[in-house]
Amino acid sequence: MLYFVLTTGQCNLSCLYCGGSFPEKLVPWRVKYDLRELKKFIDEDSNPFIAFYGGEPLLNSRFMKEVVKEVPADRFMVQTNGLLVEKLPEQFWRKMDTILLSLDGSREITDHYRGRGVYDAVIRAAEKLRSFGFSGDLIARMTVSELSNIERDVRHILSLGLFDHVHWQLDVIWSDRWKDFHRWADKSYKPALQKLIDFWIEEMRKGRVHGIVPFQGVMRAVLLGGMKIPPCGAGVDAFAISTDGRILACPIAFESDWAFLGRLGEVGPDDLPNRAQIGGRCSSCPYLNLCGGRCLFVNKERYWSDEDVEKVCEITRYMLNLIISRKDEILKLVRQGVIDEKVLLYPIYNNTTEIVP
Ligand code: SF4
Ligand code: SF4
Repeated sequence: MLYFVLTTGQCNLSCLYCGGSFPEKLVPWRVKYDLRELKKFIDEDSNPFIAFYGGEPLLNSRFMKEVVKEVPADRFMVQTNGLLVEKLPEQFWRKMDTILLSLDGSREITDHYRGRGVYDAVIRAAEKLRSFGFSGDLIARMTVSELSNIERDVRHILSLGLFDHVHWQLDVIWSDRWKDFHRWADKSYKPALQKLIDFWIEEMRKGRVHGIVPFQGVMRAVLLGGMKIPPCGAGVDAFAISTDGRILACPIAFESDWAFLGRLGEVGPDDLPNRAQIGGRCSSCPYLNLCGGRCLFVNKERYWSDEDVEKVCEITRYMLNLIISRKDEILKLVRQGVIDEKVLLYPIYNNTTEIVP
């Protein structure tokens, strides 16, 4: 199973999307439990993955080092804004299987949402990680909001040649920053998605499979018979261990009763699965098999109106249909040996990318 291990609730940025640190009372900025409790818990799992998460996890790099040294996980990952990669030694980075760096697209758009200089810092971090000998999966993790153009921004990141994969999450449901989400969805996102998938397939015809995670992850589900529910695995095979030792079904659901599953020292890995599940509107949706319900948190919480939530579903279904409609073309390229199915089918393990944006 995958465990998001929060190292701090503190962040060193204050991006427009989330405003920075979690409240210290809800997600302490220091780890409050004994590392031996984490070790004992992880020892009980036959195939544990750890993903360091925050806040900005590297603000507590000492704890990260201790975990990698003491806790026998099968895979290690980290989601970071990349500003502090030098706080950890090269050999630490070489032990990571996946590193996700937050980057929204060009300098202009990244710095607009995340702060001046962030784009350059992330590019430097990506270059440094490679120079440190990190040979795992380097993923650009985008947040997509009103100024984003998904085709332009994904292609910009691909053009850098630094990242193996690009993933995006829509800044929806908990965001109150949209001026006109419906217009953006119709006039920007949908046409740009169409162009992006055209580009993706055109490139495949030349034998290049660009690592566009939502397209690859959905295509994998199309070919292998369905999506995990939810795609991120929250509450099923992915859990968060907060800095106070609480175990949650989703790393951002630190205030929600439905997400609280127990505490380190009180429950074991086998006690956790399937106690928080997708339900409600998704249960009767014909797209559930490929959408996976998109996000457990959104499924449980109600921040946006039904009309706005339906618009998110509409653009989700739009993307799923785009991919389904290209299945035969892609399969033909696989059969002809133009592209390698092994490269196409991604991810092969839960690497914290939520697949469905
Ligand atoms: S499209 Fe909407 S309602 Fe349907 S499964 Fe996905 S999130 Fe649920
Ligand atoms: S996709 Fe939703 S449920 Fe899954 S980890 Fe992210 S916020 Fe939580």
